[in-house]
Amino acid sequence: MLKDYLGRSVQTGVALVNTFDPVTGEDALDTISQSAHLLRELQWEGTDSLTPLDHAWLRRWRHELRAIFDTEDETQAVDILNGFLDAAASKPRMTNHDGEWHWHYSRVGAPLRDRVTTATAVALLSAIADGALPRMRTCEGVDCSRVFVDTSRPGTRLYCEPAGCANRAHVRAFRSRVRTQASRGN
Ligand SMILES: [Zn+2]
Ligand SMILES: [Zn+2]
Repeated sequence: MLKDYLGRSVQTGVALVNTFDPVTGEDALDTISQSAHLLRELQWEGTDSLTPLDHAWLRRWRHELRAIFDTEDETQAVDILNGFLDAAASKPRMTNHDGEWHWHYSRVGAPLRDRVTTATAVALLSAIADGALPRMRTCEGVDCSRVFVDTSRPGTRLYCEPAGCANRAHVRAFRSRVRTQASRGN
């Protein structure tokens, strides 16, 4: 169950949302080659023929997708994701082009943006149907607005990367304890 949320499609959604930092305005999806690079890293096929339209869609879509990590309302999240399936003209079919039966969610020859959108929306919808919306979160680190899917067993992770924001939070808590003790004259 949990491993499903680690799948490439969910990872793609998380990675896309995290290309834009709403706090600093930093944008890691500025150019078409950055889009192609990101999708190539996530093992999507056809990144060589990524079009300006694909790039523009991904840039816009990541902002709409962030809403899924912001809301705790399942109906709202599902409505948004169903909307993406409509927008990308989802057309599910079963295929075994790589030797194993699996779903494709867009028509044959669909542009990469449609393949990414439909596969990611379906993966997130399936996770929500499994009760995983509360695991789709925004990091609670100070000045961090990265989103993540908590795949830990207890599902109580607060920070995007255990090594990053959680560490910084611990250091901050430690320093403020030290300061408090110092001001008490200990
Ligand atoms: Zn396939
Ligand atoms: Zn963080």
